[in-house]
Parts: sequence; C-alpha cells; structure tokens
Amino acid sequence: MPTSQPTQTAEVARLLAKCQRVVALTGAGISVESGIPDFRSKGGLWTRFPPDQYATIQAFMDDPEKVWQMLAEMEKVLDRAKPNPGHLALSRLEKLGVVEGIITQNIDGLHQEAGSKTVVEFHGSHRTLGCQWCGKGYGSDEFDGTETPPLCSCGKVLKPDVVFFGEAIPTRAMNDANSLASGCRVMLVVGTSAEVVPASQMPMLAKRNGATVVEVNVERTLLTDSVTDHFLQGKAGVVLTDLANEIAKLL
Ligand code: NAD
Repeated sequence: MPTSQPTQTAEVARLLAKCQRVVALTGAGISVESGIPDFRSKGGLWTRFPPDQYATIQAFMDDPEKVWQMLAEMEKVLDRAKPNPGHLALSRLEKLGVVEGIITQNIDGLHQEAGSKTVVEFHGSHRTLGCQWCGKGYGSDEFDGTETPPLCSCGKVLKPDVVFFGEAIPTRAMNDANSLASGCRVMLVVGTSAEVVPASQMPMLAKRNGATVVEVNVERTLLTDSVTDHFLQGKAGVVLTDLANEIAKLL
C-alpha cells in the first residue's frame, strides 16, 4: 500500500534528489490547470464530443468532416493554453538534472513550451498534420483556422498527427518511451487515469526494472493500490511545485 500524504512530499523529494534518473509519465490531468479538459471534466469538450464517436481512427476515416467539428473546437482550446506550474516544475527538475525525460500522452506541446527538452510525445502532436492518402505533411500554422476541415493539395481532408484510438503508437515514440521507462530509477506518474494502453503499461515496465513509482493525481487510479509506491494526492501544479522546491533545497 502506498504511504499517506503529509510526510510524503519531503520523503519523495529526498528519494528523487538521491536517485535522480527520474522519468515522468504525464496525462491529460497535468494540463487541466492550463484550461484543457481531461476526459473526466464535466461539461467540457468531451461531454459534447464523446471520444468513442470522435476520437477513433474509424470515425475519422468514415466521416472526417464530422470529426473536424471536434478537432476545430479542440484547436481553439489548445491554442489558448499556456504551461502551468506543473509543466514548469518538471522543466525545472530537468534543468536540475533530476528528471531525465518525460513521456507524455498529451498532444498539446505544453511541456516543450515550458522548457522541457527530452519529451516523448507518445500520442503525437497537434502541431503537424498529414494526408492519409498521399502522405504529404503540413505544419498546423499553415492554416489559420478558417479552413475547416483543412485540405491537402490533393483535395483530401488532413488529419492531425495525433494517435487516434485504434491507431498504433509511432515506432520511434514507442522505442524511446520503452527505453526511458525501463532505465529509470523513479517513475513519476502525473495526471493520468492509466486506462489507455499501452501508455498505462509504462509504470509496470519501470517497476519490473527496479524503479519506484510515485503517483500524483487528484484522485486514486487503477495504479494506486497495485503499482504505486507513493501516492501524492492533489493538483499537479501544486504538488509538483512543492516537490521541485523541496528537491532544490536538497541539491
Ligand atoms: P484521462 O482523462 O483518462 O485522466 C486524467 C487524469 O488526470 C484523471 O485520473 C484525473 O483524476 C487526473 N487529474 C485531473 N485534473 C488533475 C490535476 N489538476 N492534477 C492532477 N491530476 C489531475 O487522461 P489520460 O490518462 O491522459 O488519457 C486520456 C487520453 O486522452 C490520452 O491519450 C491523452 O492523449 C488524451 N488527451 C490529451 C489531452 C491533452 O493533450 N492535454 C487532453 C485530453 C485528452
């Protein structure tokens, strides 16, 4: 069973400062404080556009115009979002030599905007688009948002380079994530429900290779009573900032 909170931030800070080689696995929860809803936020984007109807590759191939109704709204939310203290704390921990890299399930690019250098975008990025038919690639900044859906020069509807449900993880991201997860000494799992495979398997992979698993979440998840060694309950922005401040004092 993971230990309880009050003594924990200090204890986890000591562990991270000592072990270094920390890899973070982040999910939608870390970007909630930047105004991007996760799949659980009530009344948000995903209530109106259920992921099973708008975020599967089959839905996109069947009716890309329909899926672009959701994508266009999501783009507006992503364009407004800025890194929050949680993203900044992870970037600071990388600069301090404690965090080795981040495996993120998010497509929002906020870790890089916060200054993190080693970021594996496990589910791709919304910043580029590709044509499923002719293979041509585009930057999302080549479109101003008025052209929905954005079209390829061949006339087909473009797809953002994000991994839809039912699509394989890009080989390079899979390899990079496996190598980070299997080589780390601590895996810091932040703001993920751990319900989406194969990303949800990264903490198990880390643990099998001897890592300690620290989880930061506002609520308990599938991992909490099985894989997690230390559960820090709270908002990522608050918990990670406290953790980074404690670690900085120890180095
Ligand atoms: P999820 O929506 O299934 O779970 C989010 C988790 O974050 C929950 O466990 C929730 O309790 C927790 N959480 C919410 N607010 C938090 C906060 N302030 N601090 C800490 N924890 C908080 O998300 P998931 O596990 O990442 O899986 C969903 C899939 O959807 C992923 O594949 C992801 O790529 C995609 N997604 C991405 C974004 C994004 O890019 N920002 C947003 C929504 C969904």
